[in-house]
Amino acid sequence: MLGWVIPPPRKPVKTKCDFDKEREEKVSWLIRQGLLKSHFILEAMMKVPREDFIPDHYRDYAYMEVPLPIPGHNATISCPHSYPLFYEASNLSREDKFLEVGTGSGYGAALAREIVGSKGCIVTVEIDSETYHFAKANLHKLGYTDVEVALGDGAYGYPARSPFDKICITASCKKIPEPLIQQLKPGGRLITPMGPPTREQDLVLLVKETDGGSKVSCIDKVLYVPLRGPYGF
Ligand code: SAH
Repeated sequence: MLGWVIPPPRKPVKTKCDFDKEREEKVSWLIRQGLLKSHFILEAMMKVPREDFIPDHYRDYAYMEVPLPIPGHNATISCPHSYPLFYEASNLSREDKFLEVGTGSGYGAALAREIVGSKGCIVTVEIDSETYHFAKANLHKLGYTDVEVALGDGAYGYPARSPFDKICITASCKKIPEPLIQQLKPGGRLITPMGPPTREQDLVLLVKETDGGSKVSCIDKVLYVPLRGPYGF
């Protein structure tokens, strides 16, 4: 992963108590940084045990600000601050119908599940079958059995559950996939990193207007793994 320094794999030694403390400290840090503001996103970050979405030999690094390798080609769990970064900007809210492209570890989907609540709906699509099975196992182990996990190219969305209030792509694309814009409700928001994987990318927010048009703005700079398939690299 270009640009990131990944700590070396090692045997995990931290206890549940250590992780609970680190999670609390991380949430306080995110609030101080101005990245975490909304009540339901905060509650979700406090509740979901990030360490349970990370392979054993990287588990102790769960709350470090680095993406960590997970099973699959080029797959990572994104760094902790990227979740409030995406979810605050997309205004992910109670009862939203949410689509995530790039399931990775399943952590982002679990957070989203907590944020939207029982009347919301979460669909997440992963292209790599090894990663897909890893995420599914993580989500099931923690009781997130109502998150719909699909295997395929997420750039084509998930028509059976569309339209969505919010869509997040968690890999860097070349161009915002047209099928995803189509599957967004009027007033809906889509967030994606955009640009080649060899340098910093634009984090782009697309807001779909009620007349079907859309407004696109760059809200930050990020460094994500590339999206696979025709809309990626
Ligand atoms: N959201 C994840 C992190 C994602 S890392 C988490 O919370 O852990 C990016 C993921 O996108 C990788 O798992 C990669 O396999 C997946 N991916 C890449 N291209 C994709 C595509 N076209 N459709 C769906 N998933 C894709």
